[in-house]
Amino acid sequence: MSGMVFCRGCGKEIHESAKACPHCGATQSTQTQGNKSRIAAALLAFFLGGFGVHKFYLGRVGQGLLYLIFCWTFIPAIIAFVEFILYLCSSDEDFARKYG
Ligand SMILES: [Zn+2]
Repeated sequence: MSGMVFCRGCGKEIHESAKACPHCGATQSTQTQGNKSRIAAALLAFFLGGFGVHKFYLGRVGQGLLYLIFCWTFIPAIIAFVEFILYLCSSDEDFARKYG
């Protein structure tokens, strides 16, 4: 069955999204499912955020284009800087859930 993994504690089959095993209660390793790097996105937002490069990287092409169109106003650069901080502050898990 797809989407199932084996519990690290008791070895029973549980759903991969389960945070804890329903059988024995063992906490499961929260593997980041996405393949997008949070740090890479943060660095892109910091250095090239004004051009929306981090948005393109994360697959948000529409938002990236908006950044690109308005880059001359420097507003995207400011937003990107805020996002840079948000990326740094969010956990890998949260980031993967949003963008992975
Ligand atoms: Zn278990």
